[in-house]
Amino acid sequence: MKVVIVGNGPGGVELAKQLSEEHEVTIVERETVPYYTKPMLSHYVAGLAEEKSLFPYPIDWYEKKGIKLLLGTTAKRIDAEKKVLETDRGNFEYDVLVLATGAKPRALKIPGWERMYTLRTIKDAKRLKEAVEREKDLLIIGGGFIGLEIAGNLSKRGIKVRVVEKMTRLMGLDEELTERIKGELEKHGVEFYLGRDVERIENDVLVTDKEEIPARVILCSIGIVPEVSLAKESGLDVNKGILVDKTFRTSKPDIYAIGDCAEHEGIICGTAKAAMAHAKVLANTLKGIPDEYDFHFRSSYFKFGDFPIAIVGELTDRGEWIDSETKSFYRDEKIVGVVVLSDVRKAREWEERLRSTR
Ligand code: FAD
Repeated sequence: MKVVIVGNGPGGVELAKQLSEEHEVTIVERETVPYYTKPMLSHYVAGLAEEKSLFPYPIDWYEKKGIKLLLGTTAKRIDAEKKVLETDRGNFEYDVLVLATGAKPRALKIPGWERMYTLRTIKDAKRLKEAVEREKDLLIIGGGFIGLEIAGNLSKRGIKVRVVEKMTRLMGLDEELTERIKGELEKHGVEFYLGRDVERIENDVLVTDKEEIPARVILCSIGIVPEVSLAKESGLDVNKGILVDKTFRTSKPDIYAIGDCAEHEGIICGTAKAAMAHAKVLANTLKGIPDEYDFHFRSSYFKFGDFPIAIVGELTDRGEWIDSETKSFYRDEKIVGVVVLSDVRKAREWEERLRSTR
């Protein structure tokens, strides 16, 4: 079977790994470098990881696995009738086409927005690293997991970090968890401005509805926008992401979507861990092994500097601390989710337990 995958991120690469022994696999990727680990980008920006450590799979790894990798190649359109993917470097026939096109950073078009940095690619990371090393100062707009990872890693290296967030809570978690995360990062000098509307950037200042905050380097990290242009152009059903079922089927036959570009019942997963899990489920489906992905069960493990946090299962409105590091969330007297601070091993045990009782 000819499998063509668009996107060489964790979703695309994991799927290629799973299928390359039995099938003819081609990856089409518009970037010109092989796969790199995006969760390590903030370590690299902070000088905690060398550039080469971000690249686990050099070009010859793909060759050895028999995966055809076409770098610097942009997919333009799908002819779903003829089962052909059209790119700027020729057309490719497929039996199965998988869109693993990821996402791009959400933009914030306030006056002065041209001065803002974003962090998604290795190129972005190089630009940001250079600016932060020069100015020793970073203001992050957005208190999601990516913003907090960057805050944790850079503050560890003595960079002055400020985090400005529209909501009064971090990562959509509750007040108590917000306070715990805030407290840990404040130990490294991170300053938080929660519940702020950002209005404009003027000279070296970010103006919010409440104050003016000094800001020489400003990173916009307010979430992602799934990369759906190819799917839309080709007539697939799209909302914010490409609409898929629990087996990652799109609205067109033999075309699937996984990772950050896929949406199911309004959920876009947005993590590398999820993208790889999607790939495993899809690989099973394509091998004829029945499998489906549980979009409502979260399994996210992050580290903000030295502070690990795991979000597992479903978070409801009813949360109670089980011990000082574990907050559990209930539905009908049953624990359906937990947030575990510090102890990742404990989070994995919870994940196993919660999955087995679903
Ligand atoms: P991507 O990794 O975005 O890959 C998609 C690829 O498709 C891109 O290389 C793109 O160039 C290519 N592409 C798109 N359109 C086309 C086209 N038309 N033609 C050819 N190529 C195309 N996740 C975690 O689980 N844990 C973390 O700690 C974590 N930290 C993060 C820190 C940072 C700074 C960032 C940026 C992300 C982090 N993430 C983390 C999120 C994680 O990196 C993403 O969820 C993951 O990369 C999504 O994988 P993907 O394969 O869906 O897409």
